[in-house]
Amino acid sequence: MTDPDLSRRIRDAGGRVTTARLAVLRCLADADEPLTPDEVLEYLGRNSDHVPDRVTIYRAIDWLAIHGLVRRLATVGRAARYEPVEDREAHAHFQCRRCAQTRCLPAPTPPLPPLPPGYAAERIELVIHGLCAACRAGDTP
Ligand SMILES: [Zn+2]
Ligand SMILES: [Zn+2]
Repeated sequence: MTDPDLSRRIRDAGGRVTTARLAVLRCLADADEPLTPDEVLEYLGRNSDHVPDRVTIYRAIDWLAIHGLVRRLATVGRAARYEPVEDREAHAHFQCRRCAQTRCLPAPTPPLPPLPPGYAAERIELVIHGLCAACRAGDTP
């Protein structure tokens, strides 16, 4: 996705296109897995000349999440992980319990269990917890 596309998304959400919002959205759109704010900061430090400070990054992520441009995943660990909300459907994730790496899974989310009468689901999220290939390979039997 190009910067003008990303800028348009921010404007359509009713916001001002700031350097930080654009940089964060660009970073999450380019990453192939959900990132923590610190990982976003690290990525911007490597790939961009003007790196917003940590507080600005956190504020930008909050703004993008509140306005539905990125979603916060139900992963475990101290740091929340975010990914862009694109046109693609909601999907399941795998999170490694050792290194916390989190990957998007291409398979569709399984069917929703029946809800009690009168209940309404608003959000379904599936996170599979386990060990990634690298961490399993590092395991001595
Ligand atoms: Zn791992
Ligand atoms: Zn994902």
